[in-house]
Formats: sequence, C-alpha cells, structure tokens
Amino acid sequence: MLEIESIATIASHSALQIMKGAKQEGFRTALICLKDRINVYSRFRHLIDNYLIIREYKDIVSKGIQKSLLDLNAIIIPHGSFVEYVGVDNIYRIECPVFGNRKLLEWEHNQFKKYELLKSAEISVPKVYNDPSEVDRLVIVKLPGAKGGQGYFLAKNKNELIRKADKLKINLAEALIQEYIIGTPMYFQYFYSPLFNRLELLGSDIRYESNIDGLKRIPFHIADPTFTVVGNIPVVLRESLLSQVFDYGEKFVSITKEKVPPGAIGPYCLEAVCTNHLKIIVFEFSGRIVAGTNLYIMGSPYSWLYFDEPMSMGRRIAREIKLALENNELNKVIS
Ligand code: AMP
Repeated sequence: MLEIESIATIASHSALQIMKGAKQEGFRTALICLKDRINVYSRFRHLIDNYLIIREYKDIVSKGIQKSLLDLNAIIIPHGSFVEYVGVDNIYRIECPVFGNRKLLEWEHNQFKKYELLKSAEISVPKVYNDPSEVDRLVIVKLPGAKGGQGYFLAKNKNELIRKADKLKINLAEALIQEYIIGTPMYFQYFYSPLFNRLELLGSDIRYESNIDGLKRIPFHIADPTFTVVGNIPVVLRESLLSQVFDYGEKFVSITKEKVPPGAIGPYCLEAVCTNHLKIIVFEFSGRIVAGTNLYIMGSPYSWLYFDEPMSMGRRIAREIKLALENNELNKVIS
C-alpha cells in the first residue's frame, strides 16, 4: 500500500495556500523551488519542511528531484504552472502519485480539445470559427501556447481579423477564433470528491486583467485591450445563478468521466461570462486548482456552507488525501 507523508508542489501560483492547507491537515510539506524564488518562499518557512531546489521548471522530472520526492513519500499537487511551464508531457514522467487526473491537464492544455469537451458536455459555449472568412461578429483570438490571457487579441470583423493576423504574422489555422461574449467574467471554483461522489462549489472570483480592466478608467479608446491576468477579486453570485452553476459543474464531471476517465478529481474551474440576460457562457476550463482560490485561504462564503471551519481549496485537497488514506482509497484520488 502507498504511504503518503508529504504534500509537494512547485513554488508558484497557489503553492502557499497548498502548503498551508497541508499543514492544517497534519502533513509534512515539500516545496520544489526555483533558486531565485527562495527569497520569497523562505519568508513562510514555518509552512515548508523541505525545499527541493531546481534551476528551471522542467527540472522537476530530473532523477534527483524524483528520488527526493519518492524518499519523502510525497504526493504532488498540480497547479497552473504545471500546465504552463513544466509541460504536459512531463507530467506523465512524475514518478510519485499526482493528486487528480493527469489526463485532464493534457486536455486543458489543448485549446481545441478543451472547447470540444465543454461543447460535448452541453454546457453553453461561445461560437468558434474554423474559417476566418465566416467571422460575423466581435471575436477573441487565442494563439496556441498563450499563457494567463497573454497573447490574445480582439477583432471586430473578418477584415480586421485578417489584417491583425497578417501584422502579427499569425497563422490563423493554429489559433482558436472565438466569439467574444460581452458581459461580466466569472470563474467558478469547484471541488469534486470521488470519495463522497459530491460536487462542492468552494468559491467564485473575477480575474483582474491588464489592460482591459484599466481601460474603463479613461474616457476614450487609446489602446487595444489585452488580457494579462494580474490578480483576482472576489465575487459572490446572485443566488439565482447557482442553478446554472451547479448544472454546468455536474455536466463537467459527467463528461470527464466519459471522455477522460476516471474523470475530474478534486479542484477544477469553469471560466465564464454572465450576460445581461443572466445566461452563463463558459469559454474555458482549468482541470486543477486555480489561482483565484488564493482569495479564500480562510474559506469562502460557499465553503462556509459546507464546513464549519476555514476550508481553503488547498486544505480541501489535503483533507481528501487524508480521508482517502484513512479509508484505504488513495487510488480514487491519484493518477
Ligand atoms: P483565458 O486565459 O482563456 O482564461 O482568458 C483570459 C481572459 O480573456 C478571460 O479572463 C476573459 O477576460 C477573456 N476572454 C477569453 N475568452 C473570452 C470570450 N469568449 N468572451 C469574452 N471574454 C473572453
């Protein structure tokens, strides 16, 4: 039987929350840390039992780090940096258990697969154009490998799309051309527990993005909007929206069980825009913890409805691992 003693992650994204949650649930912790980030993370040394130092993110799959993780009986918690910087192929090379479904990270990484998964779940999604000449409205263009909203651009019509793509030397066949939904962006932070077969909504947030969120401060349009995430702000949903939010959350769990078995495990996020007709349209998902959960390190208005104690997403993950170990069901939560 597998033993788990330490919870490990990469020093970035939501690492502090994950370390704190692990400590709250009685685990030891290990932080895989870029050399030049030690200065930040060592300020929280009471949360970190072991540092595994790397020179670049991909070093996580080096023999030395893998051995250290195995020696520590560690389980890895993947977050956004695993998808963006470690590389999805490398995720399969991690030898110790990984919390969640590694395959879902692979789907998350591919914009086209991601969109198809949402669509086949019968979740409302924006229209996608395969042929640029068919563009008949405002679109957002997502280039392959764009990270954290960086590298997206808007085009008002097909002529502008083709002109901008030429200027930026972009091959539109490789880009996802998606209808731009006007409304309020909202991100729903779910946790699916395979142990209890229960879907929990643990929080919601809005991303603060530069410079689209700064443009409203000036009276006229002087720059093209960009979508680089710089932070997150909390939002509590109008309560009547919850039926759509739970419906989409459940549809997501079902479709992942069917197409990406064993399906979603633990945290995931649906990223949406709510229109003025109160219709929620989902343009993305993340198949792991999202950075917006950092808002709720003391718990959120939603987590408080489930738990009479502060329950961050990081702590919820550690709690699921602890319960899985106690019930001899670790295989249900790792891949
Ligand atoms: P993403 O990296 O895909 O989460 O997107 C970055 C940001 O782009 C989002 O937070 C939204 O502000 C914006 N965005 C992406 N897709 C759409 C869409 N189809 N409609 C409206 N806004 C979008």
